[in-house]
Formats: sequence, C-alpha cells, structure tokens
Amino acid sequence: MRQQFLFSPTLRDVPQGADIPSHQLMLRAGLIRQTASGIYSYLPLGKRVLNHVEKIIREEMNKSGAQEILMPAVQPSELWEESGRLDDYGPELMRLNDRNDREFVLGPTHEEVITSLVRDELNSYKKLPVNLYQIQTKYRDERRPRFGVLRSREFIMKDAYSFNPDTESLAQSYDAMYEAYSNIFRRCGLDFRAVKADAGAIGGKGGTHEFMVLSDVGEDTIAYSDASDYAANLEIADLPDTFSESAVPDEEITSVHTPAARSMDEVSTYLSVMHDQLIKSILFIVDDEPVLFICRGDHELNDVKIGNALDAGTTRLAEEEEIRNLFGTEPGFIGPVGIPENVKVMADYAVKGISSGVCGANETDTHLLHVHPKRDVHIDQYGDFRFVKEGDPAPDGGGTIQFAKGIEVGHVFKLGTKYSEALGAYYLDENGSSRPLLMGCYGIGVSRTLAAVIEQHHDEDGLIWPRSVAPFDLHLLVLNSKQEDQAELGESLYDNLRQQGYDVLFDDRNERAGVKFKDADLVGLPVRITCGKKADEGIVEVKTRETGEMEEVHADRLVDYLNALFR
Ligand code: ATP
Ligand code: MG
Repeated sequence: MRQQFLFSPTLRDVPQGADIPSHQLMLRAGLIRQTASGIYSYLPLGKRVLNHVEKIIREEMNKSGAQEILMPAVQPSELWEESGRLDDYGPELMRLNDRNDREFVLGPTHEEVITSLVRDELNSYKKLPVNLYQIQTKYRDERRPRFGVLRSREFIMKDAYSFNPDTESLAQSYDAMYEAYSNIFRRCGLDFRAVKADAGAIGGKGGTHEFMVLSDVGEDTIAYSDASDYAANLEIADLPDTFSESAVPDEEITSVHTPAARSMDEVSTYLSVMHDQLIKSILFIVDDEPVLFICRGDHELNDVKIGNALDAGTTRLAEEEEIRNLFGTEPGFIGPVGIPENVKVMADYAVKGISSGVCGANETDTHLLHVHPKRDVHIDQYGDFRFVKEGDPAPDGGGTIQFAKGIEVGHVFKLGTKYSEALGAYYLDENGSSRPLLMGCYGIGVSRTLAAVIEQHHDEDGLIWPRSVAPFDLHLLVLNSKQEDQAELGESLYDNLRQQGYDVLFDDRNERAGVKFKDADLVGLPVRITCGKKADEGIVEVKTRETGEMEEVHADRLVDYLNALFR
C-alpha cells in the first residue's frame, strides 16, 4: 500500500476526552474515528488489525472443531420474552420497532437466537455435541461508554455456543474453548491470565473463567496467589477457613454509650479498639427472610458470595424500615446479640477469631463490649462471605493473595439448561427420554482485544505492533523522493518484498524525513526500512520498532535478513 493514498488521518496532539493510551493512539494513528458516543468507525489501519485478530480467532475456533455461522443483529423481542430476559437485561438492551410496530432488540448477545435456531434440529443425542460460533456486531447501551473501543455501545464480539448431551461432554467443550482462547490471546501477543469468575446475570451454574489482560487501565481486579497459579476475579476470590475459635474473655458483655458513633471508623476511634475486634452487622433479605451477616470491622461483606452461598432467588439489602421493625433501632447500631429468633445469623470465618469484640447493641448510641462469638451470639453458619484483601492467604494453601488490574477480553461459561429449558430445546437420549440440551457460551471482545493489545504494546512515540496483528509487516520509507537513487531503490524493494509475501506500507510521500520518521513510530509497524543517503550503494537502514535496534543492510541481503528476523 502506498502511504500517499492511505486513508489514515493522523493527529499530532492527544485528542480531548481520550484518557488511556489505547484510545489516544487509536485516534492519533488514524485507526478509528468516533461517530457517536461509544460508536466508532474503523479506518483502514484499524480494520486491518481487526481482520488479523479475527483471522487468528477463526483459525483457533475452527481447529477446536467449532463451526462458523452468522446470526442476525436484529432479534424479535418475543424470543427475549420467552427466555425471561426482556425485562431482566435492563436498559443496556437497545430496542426498536418495525413499521408494523413489532418489537425488536439489537442483540447484546445471542443465547436466545441460537437456542431457537437449534431447538428443532439438535433433537437426538446422535447429533451432539455441536459448537457454533460467529463474529458479529453487538449492541449494549452501556451506562458509561468510555475508553474508546474498550467499552463501547456497538462492538465486535466472537460468540460461541456449545450444545452438549451431558456434563462430561460440556466439560470437554469448555476445556476446548479454554485452550482455544489461551492460544488466541497468546498469538495476539497478550500477557493474560484466565481467572475464575462469577456467573452473573447470564445465569447458570458451574464453571466460568474470564480471560484478563494485565493492565493498569483494567476495570477488573484480579486476586492471584504469589506462589501458585490461583487467580480469580476479586468479586468471587475465595478465602480458606484459617481461623480457630478464640478464647472466651474473662469479662462479661457490657454496654457502653457511644453517641453518634455509627461507622466502623467512628466506633474504633471512640472506643480505641482496633478494626479487627469490631463486628460489622448487615441485614439482608434473602427470598423474603431476614438474614444478618456479620464480619470483622476491617473486612467488607461480598454480596456476590452472599448470593451464591444461599442459593437464593433474590438477595437484597434490608430497608431502614425493615431494620427498625426487626431490631427496634437504626442501622448504625444493630448487632447480632439477643436478636429475634427468626433472624438467621451468618458469620464470616474471620469472626471466629474475635475474642473480645465490639458490636452494635440494637439500641441507639450504644455498643456492646467483650462480645465473644461462641458465648454470646447464636451463629447459624460460618462461611466465606467477605472480599479478599491483599495479604490474605490463598485458598489453595499456596502463598498470599496479591491484586492486579485486568481488562476482560474473553469469557467462558457453563450455562447449563437455563436457555434450553426456557426456549424448549430438548433432545432424545440413548434411552429415548427427552432431556434439555446442556449449553456453554464463550465470548471474546474482538474490538476490545485490539485496544488491549495496544495497552500492552506502545511507548511514548506510538504503537508497537506484534507481527501477528500488525496492519502491515514492514514500513518502507524513501527519505527524499526527489533523489532518484532513493526513489528507485524504494520502488524495487516495494515490489520485491511484496513478492516475498510481506505486507508493505510504502511511504513515498513528499514529506520531510522528520515527519516520516515520526509517523512511522506512531503507526508502529514491526520493522522500518529506510532508503536514505546510502541508497546509491544499495544500502538501507533496518530498524526494529520494539527494540529500537538499527542495522545497515545491503538490499541484496534484505530478504534473508528479514526472514531471519521474523522467524
Ligand atoms: P464487562 O464486565 O466488561 O461489561 P461482560 O461481562 O458484560 O463484560 P460478556 O457478556 O461476557 O461481557 O461479553 C463477552 C465479551 O465481550 C467480554 O469478555 C468483553 O471482552 C466483550 N465486551 C463486553 N462488553 C463490551 C463493551 N461494552 N465494549 C467492548 N467489548 C465488550
Ligand atoms: Mg457488561
């Protein structure tokens, strides 16, 4: 491609409103332009990278045995009613009506469409398992679209759905996807971790992993062990039960006046006790029943774990009114001692280790001292109900938990039968009985992956593409196109290198050398070849973008040199 014809408007300055390197560089190097908030056009350089990422995805998906299809972005709302998600999905779902006032949605994901697609076809165990995937545009009306294509409202996703007869088969499909994803992200040049994750709103029980690209701009926190390969999303990272029951204190419970001391900080300061001797009490309503969760004052209760632990339909925080009715006091002063019998008490493991604790007395401006969990509280169950903190022990017995930030680029899920049951996708097993299909779903944010690659591969001068996804392999520069020997050498190398199978961007523009070098660094192709002053001797300068290493190479040896470099 001759650069003079390339539609790649570059920007000298950092564009306003672009807060992270990938967003800034994609705008500056002319990869994308914004059309509306969270909605982007891809220009030739961006589209070429996208194509390369998609090619890698297709190769690995096909290798795993999955088959490519393409489903519509426009989906009838009735399908979403059938699955029960029309209301559950919330305002992220973009809706529209056709001329006959029939309702449609713009697909944010495709469980409904694919399940309806296969429900009359995959009706026998003999046709299973099947894994179908597509690369397609998705729509989500994100509350806060930001960071360019990292969190946009229209984006490209690779989504795959497996249909399996039994859990063993589902596990095989899941493992195959896990491996394909690992290959895909490795080939894209990404430093990533597969972390255990929460099943969330998509529903379904069983395994789920998120593929996280390690990056400071990531919106997710990964909790990982410094001594093993344990890694989980902070939301669900588990904690082992490492606490043994504390000794009973000599003192009996006593109440103290604590005017206006409600928060853990206020109580700690007022009574001069450490946070780890405080007992924090929070009332939840779990399927209409009140449940008091308690944890140590220096810990935070984790509602994802709480929801999962109770296997409940709905879990929510109690309203102030409900707290008043049950405990006869306001939220800041509730505690687990002497409470109504119908309130279950669930305690985080760490509460066990408190020997002389402090908690709310269920009376305004009053706390209790010398509380011992075993002696004074009727605890129904101990469990892992809190967020991990850095320095906590890892759950697999190896090492200590550390935190890192990650960008979620992929997600693999065991969905189970949620959609097959809701949408009536059944098959006949070997004994002729009808069973719902087991499903797995597997997503990759294709456009987000592009941004993630840039987050990990850039410097202050611009992009540094891994060869696997670079828009071109080589940037060929003629420094002064008015110098005949330079122009001639450039032209002949341009032909020759393309014949050798290289993608070449040929900067034959009538620009100053400084401009060309700056643009080359900004666009960040893996190797730059410059025809300059020594063109008359047939010598070019070869620079590797990543290392900055430069070498003079004779044009006759150039192909061998490059072949060695790229291999
Ligand atoms: P997030 O927590 O970041 O909102 P999600 O859990 O909603 O992601 P999934 O429903 O699992 O995402 O979608 C599969 C993949 O699609 C994600 O792993 C991510 O890479 C990508 N993705 C999701 N939302 C967006 C978005 N708004 N913009 C770009 N990519 C996205
Ligand atoms: Mg989301």
